[in-house]
Amino acid sequence: MTVYKAPQRDMKFVMDELLDMQSHYASLPGCEDASVEIVDAIREEASKFASNVIAPLNRTGDQEGCTWSEEGVKTPAGFKAAYDQYREAGWVGLIQDSEFGGQGLPISVGNMVTEMITSANLSWAMLPGANGGALETLHTWGSQEQKDTYMPNMVEGRWSGTMCLTEPHCGTDLGLLRTKAEPQEDGSYKLSGTKIFISQGENDLTENIVHIVIARIAGAPEGTGGISLFIVPKFLPDADGGMGERNPVTCGAIEHKMGLHGCPTCVMNFDGAKGFLIGPENKGLQCMFTFMNNARLGVALQGVAHADVGLQQSLAYAKDRLQMRALTGPKNPELMADPIIVHPDVRRMLFTQKCIAEGGRMFTYDIAKMLDVIQRSTDEELKAEMDDALGLLTPIAKGFLTEVGVESANLGLQCFGGHGYIQEWGLEQNVRDSRISSIYEGTTGIQALDLIGRKILGTQGARLNNYILQIAAFCEVNQENPAVAQFTSELVKHIKEWGELTKKIGSATAKNPDEMGAASVDFLMYSGYVVLAFYWARAAVVADKALQAGTTEEDFYKAKITTAKFYFQRLLPKTRGHVATMTTGADNLMELDAEHFVF
Ligand SMILES: Cc1cc2nc3c(=O)[nH]c(=O)nc-3n(C[C@H](O)[C@H](O)[C@H](O)COP(=O)(O)OP(=O)(O)OC[C@H]3O[C@@H](n4cnc5c(N)ncnc54)[C@H](O)[C@@H]3O)c2cc1C
Repeated sequence: MTVYKAPQRDMKFVMDELLDMQSHYASLPGCEDASVEIVDAIREEASKFASNVIAPLNRTGDQEGCTWSEEGVKTPAGFKAAYDQYREAGWVGLIQDSEFGGQGLPISVGNMVTEMITSANLSWAMLPGANGGALETLHTWGSQEQKDTYMPNMVEGRWSGTMCLTEPHCGTDLGLLRTKAEPQEDGSYKLSGTKIFISQGENDLTENIVHIVIARIAGAPEGTGGISLFIVPKFLPDADGGMGERNPVTCGAIEHKMGLHGCPTCVMNFDGAKGFLIGPENKGLQCMFTFMNNARLGVALQGVAHADVGLQQSLAYAKDRLQMRALTGPKNPELMADPIIVHPDVRRMLFTQKCIAEGGRMFTYDIAKMLDVIQRSTDEELKAEMDDALGLLTPIAKGFLTEVGVESANLGLQCFGGHGYIQEWGLEQNVRDSRISSIYEGTTGIQALDLIGRKILGTQGARLNNYILQIAAFCEVNQENPAVAQFTSELVKHIKEWGELTKKIGSATAKNPDEMGAASVDFLMYSGYVVLAFYWARAAVVADKALQAGTTEEDFYKAKITTAKFYFQRLLPKTRGHVATMTTGADNLMELDAEHFVF
């Protein structure tokens, strides 16, 4: 059984102390209800649900998996009862618009809950995740009638949503899509085609499933300029908003995959299914971009969750497992050996996971805070500023945190030695489940191209400059602060170098476009390490203040400062390798023609 204990103290540190969410909520219209007491109560309740209801289903769900038959898809035992409990408690509507039955709480509060359910049981959490994406699309692009028809049932959780983009021959390159939509006399469309890899495309958890589908209207241009977005419900709504006729959209099979066994990944066949255009014709891809930031945040959070789960298990194990003696002599002479936590290399693995879990938490919660501003603020200038920052930070969060999340999950397993490799402890499941995060919602390669191409070179470096100025301002304010002096000097060096690297890649790219692609993933990883360093330096400042003020939680704050030191001394130097690699140019990758690339 997976044991999960939400890191509530750390969540509170990030929300209340590092990001000062209370002032943030007080400044945003409609967030007045999010008082400290309410947010604490939500966190505590969600933590109980995550630990007591869905964590116990994580391993059994992995072992049993989902099954397909002509009648439909069956999720593992206990998944439906848990979902009913979640739905009845009102969790589905936590951050949804109150006009459609939601509780209207800020995105950042929902983000905290998402972290807990993701850590406890990612397979189970995929349904609320997919539903959230579909709801956001409907809310942003649906007509009032469409919203009134679908949203209340989805906000209540009786209906769920999916995002149907991928086809067998097109994943990254959606411009190749073939699913077609033929206009009908009644204003609807008839959709035909096959989508693959659709998370929760069919399930036994909800009564109806509302698919958000991209397709090409007959006669529309080829490529991305001819993509439109449609609502295709499994059961067409009747005149009273209930479930009417069955629509010919069916699940032909489910995939047998590496992890996420408790979540059905479906082949969906659209055989002349009735669909309704949502958003402007041929602007489907632009419509999808509006919720991309949220969706990418959700996956970035999976990186945090995998690191946190591995850390929780491996830290407990490292304190308990007795092997060999400490290099400096026995620490527990009365026992037959010392616990493995005495060994420097085990500590390296534990600290790395802690840096990624807690650093990633700071990073993703801050992104959620920016999303709150975009959703709620009336200050247009501030919104534009946040939009700018998010454009830069979202591909870094998604690409970097999922890559280091997988690395952390592996380190968690490594701490267990051979016992990590067998199923009993759940570490191998964490590794398997984590692996998809750097693939879906845009692979790391695609996030990296988005970052260096669209977000940085595409704005002549303006976005990056704005962010660098924030770090520079922090360093200036704290340059005399002995608690972080060693951190600010490293940050100052890195932001200078970050700008220089950008210029170098930019001018090389002007001569040869392959240069950008060749540098991209190293550049993304470099950026991720610098961004996380900024959060760790900020955390150290907050922790130092608490210690100076005579906190009663010395251990907690001292551990923050020690972890920040570890980060700056042992993880930030990874940027050296990325600089060395990204500056070697594209030739070493491109000089061998595809036909000579042989083995
Ligand atoms: C478990 C699971 C759940 C999923 N859920 C959903 C879902 O709910 N809805 C949905 O629509 N899809 C879903 N997907 C699909 C997922 O989003 C795609 O698999 C992903 O976008 C990659 O597409 P692809 O698999 O076709 O790979 P490809 O696009 O074929 O890419 C193959 C490789 O080529 C690289 N590559 C491609 N183009 C470039 C380029 N221009 N530059 C550099 N590298 C490039 C990629 O990075 C990758 O490494 C899911 C997939 C899985 C496995």
